[in-house]
Amino acid sequence: MNQLIRCATCNKIFMKTSFDQWPEYDSVAGGSPEPYLEIAKNDFQDFLKNHRNHPMENLQIIEDSFVSEKPYSEPTKTSYFKATNGKERFVIRKSRERIEEPLTYELIRGDYSLKLLRLEIQAEEIMKQLEREWKNPPLPQSKGEAFLNLCRKILKTVDIDHLERIPEDSPLPLETYYKMDEVSLAYLLRNCRNIFEGREYKEIEAFIHRHKEDGALLLKATYGILIAESEKSQLEPLHVPHALKEKMMIEKK
Ligand SMILES: [Zn+2]
Repeated sequence: MNQLIRCATCNKIFMKTSFDQWPEYDSVAGGSPEPYLEIAKNDFQDFLKNHRNHPMENLQIIEDSFVSEKPYSEPTKTSYFKATNGKERFVIRKSRERIEEPLTYELIRGDYSLKLLRLEIQAEEIMKQLEREWKNPPLPQSKGEAFLNLCRKILKTVDIDHLERIPEDSPLPLETYYKMDEVSLAYLLRNCRNIFEGREYKEIEAFIHRHKEDGALLLKATYGILIAESEKSQLEPLHVPHALKEKMMIEKK
């Protein structure tokens, strides 16, 4: 179990991972301690030494609060999560610049929110699908472009709060896909009549129906992490009465 410990005086934190469970060196027959266990143990002892006589508290990590701009699998990245002492909420910045370096944790007083950076159509993906599916004769480039422009017009009127999100496993945590709503689809179909005629219209109509649910016609939203630091009040004492503190500790268990 990971344990997140905060020095309330300095606002520094230490992440005690399962790696630094005290290894029982003596009981391991002939075994020498593994180097990383030794380092982790020393790090924690250094932390305790540096913050001697400072009040310490456990922070509880808020579930499902992890966000990062890079894929989950990327080892060198910065990510954020939220934690609380039951009274105040903090943002923890977790980062590693090089793969051989240990992770660093930094405490930020405040909160973060996700901000929509852009909403776009998957232009390249749409063109690729049109080329793949539209043969004999191929769709003229100009008509493909006209179709893309029509899709782009939808972005100007659509309200992202009313779109259905596709719960797809994107490797990028801050990228999300949404279905076009019924009004937008009707607009698209109606205006396609100005570009396509007869058999071509039938084809584009079928194309829209094929790709509206989970394909190239999904709208792609990209979010950014917005950190809102709260007032700098680093040395503010904790006003939690001792009895309450104990209660909080019990509840956490
Ligand atoms: Zn301290």
